[in-house]
Amino acid sequence: MASIEFVQVTKSFDKHDVIKNLDLTIEDGKFTVLVGPSGCGKTTLLRMIAGIDPQTSGSVLIGGKDVTRIPPGERGVAMVFQNYAIYPTMSVRENIEFGLKNNKVDKAERTRLVESISETVGLGGYLDRKPSTLSGGQRQRVALARAMVKKPSVFLMDEPLSNLDAKLRAQMRIELIELHKKLGTTFVFVTHDQVEAMSMADTIVLMNQGRIQQEAAPEVIYRKPSNMFTAQFIGVPPMNVGDLMKDGARFGFRPEHAILSQEPGGLHYSVRGTIATREMLGSETLYQVKTSGGQSSYMVKSVQDLFRVDQEVYLGVDAAKLIFFDAEGR
Ligand code: ADP
Ligand code: MG
Repeated sequence: MASIEFVQVTKSFDKHDVIKNLDLTIEDGKFTVLVGPSGCGKTTLLRMIAGIDPQTSGSVLIGGKDVTRIPPGERGVAMVFQNYAIYPTMSVRENIEFGLKNNKVDKAERTRLVESISETVGLGGYLDRKPSTLSGGQRQRVALARAMVKKPSVFLMDEPLSNLDAKLRAQMRIELIELHKKLGTTFVFVTHDQVEAMSMADTIVLMNQGRIQQEAAPEVIYRKPSNMFTAQFIGVPPMNVGDLMKDGARFGFRPEHAILSQEPGGLHYSVRGTIATREMLGSETLYQVKTSGGQSSYMVKSVQDLFRVDQEVYLGVDAAKLIFFDAEGR
């Protein structure tokens, strides 16, 4: 187990700073999810931890120790990628064992480890299969097992679920949470998918353009976003942002926090509008409401399906559910 620290870390490619003066502590034993739009620097950050592509300046510490001069193989980290990186000609057993061969572990111990770890990830009956005969989810488990067999103190995962279909992705999310509980090791999981981040993380580190926007538990990011970017990145559909008020300040509210009614309610924020679109999602209905005057349009998510397109409504939001931003979006 180990914590990870970035101290004033800068990473440049061709004199362009992709990450600049980053300070970040990833807690020991936690499931931390690095999330942000494509190109914001997530993979770059993981590669610096692994030592595959070290920082331009600043220090990276693992377990309190500066690893700047320590080669990747000696950092005690294991990385799992989106495209599995398993060997097609080797059996599952050989693939998992491969991680150990370089570490001079004797044969009996190798066999014992491979068997116990393959049980942990649910591959017990598949050890003699070739990867081509496995499903996508099973292949991803082989990649996980191969990382686990090295007993790393840190697991780095770069969008490992992106190639799986929606159902399997949801199942693997739960399996990874359970695996993390079993192992108690530091997990750093990278994704561009905010649903994945919200559902798996102890702590979310939300990045944009190489900078950390917010670092907090999922429910805190959801309830108290640090700025407009965070507010609109987390949540589907994104947070509504209201008309400009004085000094360029704005307000926001979540689609699920707006209430539609036919009479003006006693709510703090209330505006008249018309239902522009209605989308039945099953347990919920998603409405788009155009305000009278037509300057704004807000998304509303409701558990009731009471309104139809073109109907006039009042949209209300309770004061406690409004979030305010200054002219800089903070
Ligand atoms: P993410 O994983 O969040 O999608 P990356 O860390 O891969 O983002 O990339 C962050 C930025 O760094 C991007 O603008 C990307 O083009 C740039 N970048 C990454 N690797 C290299 C490289 N080897 N050479 C030049 N630019 C790179
Ligand atoms: Mg990436």
